[in-house]
Amino acid sequence: MTQQRITVIRGDGIGPDIIDATTKILDKVGCDFAYDYADAGLVALEKHGELLPQETLDLIAKNKIALKGPLTTPVGEGFTSINVSLRKQFKLYANLRPVMSFKGTKARYEDIDIITVRENTQGMYSGLGQTVSEDGNEAEAMSKITREGAEKIVTFAYEMARREGRKKVTAVHKANILKSTSGLFLKVAREVGERYPDIESAEMIVDNTCMQLVMNPHQFDVIVTTNLFGDIISDLCAGLVGGLGMAPGANIGEDCAIFEAVHGSAPDIAGKNLANPTSVILAAVQMLEYLNMGDKAEKVRSALKDVIESGDRTTRDLGGQDGTTEFTQAVLDRL
Ligand code: NAD
Repeated sequence: MTQQRITVIRGDGIGPDIIDATTKILDKVGCDFAYDYADAGLVALEKHGELLPQETLDLIAKNKIALKGPLTTPVGEGFTSINVSLRKQFKLYANLRPVMSFKGTKARYEDIDIITVRENTQGMYSGLGQTVSEDGNEAEAMSKITREGAEKIVTFAYEMARREGRKKVTAVHKANILKSTSGLFLKVAREVGERYPDIESAEMIVDNTCMQLVMNPHQFDVIVTTNLFGDIISDLCAGLVGGLGMAPGANIGEDCAIFEAVHGSAPDIAGKNLANPTSVILAAVQMLEYLNMGDKAEKVRSALKDVIESGDRTTRDLGGQDGTTEFTQAVLDRL
């Protein structure tokens, strides 16, 4: 079997620390990956004069799998988000953001297990028709949803639910007000849901969903929704299980996938050995599942769970006293 090559973007801020922690864990569990390192973000701007060099894009295209640390997009005109560019460039239409409870974290609920499946390229984030009038008093942006895009993401959610033995898919929308865009999404979601009689289909308006997630989150299993709602709801879900340090994300297209943490480069704690590497480690777990290496994924998840739940050598955001290095070593010791 040919060796799997992974494009690794260490990223900015806490990125290098949490990515290096993750590759150590992948090596220890016996993955035998070859890593091609590539630059993006501030590091790339300093080294190559651009945030997303062609070389990096070529390496992602070649290996088709990337593990990415958080990237800092400098504030100011002329810099488009690197993450949005990557999603568009590689047509990564599905953003999978699972959250799962670990005992011992500072969280309001136990036994949360929710996956948000977010449409990743359309809606309000498509970047279409963005204008500000010359006098600066009027701004416009266009939201576009296509039947094809909606059908692809909803089908993705149901197929995933079936594969993973999940019971229910909730389509989240705002079709009562956004009648055209959200209306089309809901119409297609209902049609697709009818093709999966073995899975319970539900629908919920986004504002109510936010309240229900806070009040009664156990009613949710898989949530499928449009780009902007998915971005917000998935952070809310992260808050249910102990915060952004616990939330991974997979960006999946037809033939390419990029795995990352949901959080950013955390400049306030960069270089201080304070970052919790869990979200990138869980993103690597998603990557192993994508690569049909479920046994290794399970080993990593269970070592991580053991460290967090024992409260042994955890980082401060999890209520512990230790740093990234000690936390990572504790996971490595259990593999
Ligand atoms: P952030 O997610 O970097 O940080 C928010 C807060 O959470 C901070 O207090 C930070 O210390 C804490 N935090 C985040 N990750 C943590 C971890 N692993 N362990 C412990 N604490 C953690 O958000 P921000 O400060 O708004 O953004 C900083 C930069 O990151 C910005 O330039 C932004 O554009 C970028 N960003 C990148 C991505 C990405 O690459 N996917 C996502 C979001 C933000």
